[in-house]
Amino acid sequence: MSRLDCILEAISNDAKHPTTAIRRELERTRKKAVGCMLEFCPEELIYAAGMLPVGLWGGNVELSLVKRYFPAFFCAPVQQNLELALQGAFDGLLTAVIVPILCDTLKSASQNWRIAVPQIPMIPVTYPQNRKSRSGQAFLRCELEDALKKLEQINRCKVSEQDVTNAILLYNRYRQTMREFAERAAHHTDIITPAVRHSVFQAGFYRDKADYLRTVQELTAQLELFPQTKGRHPIALTGIALDVPRVLEAMEQNGLSVAADTLAQEYGQAAFPVPDGDDGLTRLAAWWGQVRCSSLAADPRKERVEYMIRLVREGRAQGVIVSAPSFCDPEEYDEPIFHSAFQAAGIPHLYLELNDAPSAEQAAARVQGFAEMLP
Ligand code: SF4
Repeated sequence: MSRLDCILEAISNDAKHPTTAIRRELERTRKKAVGCMLEFCPEELIYAAGMLPVGLWGGNVELSLVKRYFPAFFCAPVQQNLELALQGAFDGLLTAVIVPILCDTLKSASQNWRIAVPQIPMIPVTYPQNRKSRSGQAFLRCELEDALKKLEQINRCKVSEQDVTNAILLYNRYRQTMREFAERAAHHTDIITPAVRHSVFQAGFYRDKADYLRTVQELTAQLELFPQTKGRHPIALTGIALDVPRVLEAMEQNGLSVAADTLAQEYGQAAFPVPDGDDGLTRLAAWWGQVRCSSLAADPRKERVEYMIRLVREGRAQGVIVSAPSFCDPEEYDEPIFHSAFQAAGIPHLYLELNDAPSAEQAAARVQGFAEMLP
């Protein structure tokens, strides 16, 4: 097996088997794990407190116990996370959970977690919508300070300013590594299929970033040894996540490759470095003000629409897929704006709501129809 194949196989295994990957990392690093409920978690704080941040993006589990807490029409990954917690899947694995309060769903999820899973402490971090103003950033700084104090209590440690600075430095290097990978991946679409590209981003949620960034750097360097290819149908992704194997497979079968994305689960987490500033917490609060092209970061101008159109006009993508779990309010609110803008610009566009196995089959069929519309 070539070095490239070895790297890709290890990444794919970690993405497919998160619990195994996390347990291995905990043993290797002798750290405790803190779960990060979906998007834009302040992972640097967890890292600075000497613990391992791990992403919680739902999982393949039948919903049963969680029905006591949520109606059926509720964001699937949030329900899956709570179901797994209620079934005890996180007991002995997670020391705490951070819930970034970014939407109404996460607001109620945080309160339900507090009652339903008392054995795993939950730390909420409320993100302001007025994220660019000084008052908004001062508010977020207080939230982050509070979360850091709770992490110190949980890990019985004292976090210094230097610890936070070091964590920011590491995460900025990680983000840069992922940006370089994404850029290189767009030129090797025969190797980096949609499923492989997704695995590279996903596995990062279960690995110590200091170690994983070296893996991704090596992967990017390996890709440079191969001739460049451009897929038949390069497209751009946006939304929250496109992580359903059946849909990723359908994309490959229909000649679709990913030229760029702003998915919250993928490039969206890597796109913007934490800026310079007076101290670590101030810098992390300022970072939220710099996030762009996400339905979760308030943007009256809807710059994301312009950005996606520009990707197509510049010839980098032939069309756009918006992907989010069913009942994701922030994406649903943006969708009519996308729809009319793409229609006016003559850009092929597909909105996927991904939820469970039947919805994946339907989505796969819609991907095929979408591919037929592309030039
Ligand atoms: S933003 Fe959407 S996907 Fe994320 S937690 Fe809220 S409803 Fe779920």
